[in-house]
Amino acid sequence: MKKTRQKAMILNALKNREDHPTAEMIYAELKEIDPHISLATIYRNLNTFAENGKIRKVELPNMKDRFDWNLSAHDHALCSDCHKLMDIPIKTPRRRYMNLYGFKVHEVEILYKGICSECQSKNNQVKA
Ligand SMILES: [Zn+2]
Ligand SMILES: [Zn+2]
Repeated sequence: MKKTRQKAMILNALKNREDHPTAEMIYAELKEIDPHISLATIYRNLNTFAENGKIRKVELPNMKDRFDWNLSAHDHALCSDCHKLMDIPIKTPRRRYMNLYGFKVHEVEILYKGICSECQSKNNQVKA
């Protein structure tokens, strides 16, 4: 029973956020509600949800894995200053293009790297 409740709690915590949190960010939130929950439990459950296709795991080079409840086709943009990960909606799932070449696509991950608008205006203020 307790395990089922923790699973639901972890999934709900992820669904309430738009910021593609790490397991640590979910942990920081949930330990306030349930002091018995461990980071290992959260990490394990998030990975299982991702393996079962309930959520999406976003693996970033040299950074901690981020988790995403939004399963609709979209790309991500990563701000190299604040490490915010944003959703970039796409109209046609990219795998359809590749299917034209007879290549069977399992997964597509496109990552735009750059600076978000908030960090751009912060940087401009520092210069002014
Ligand atoms: Zn930023
Ligand atoms: Zn996303």
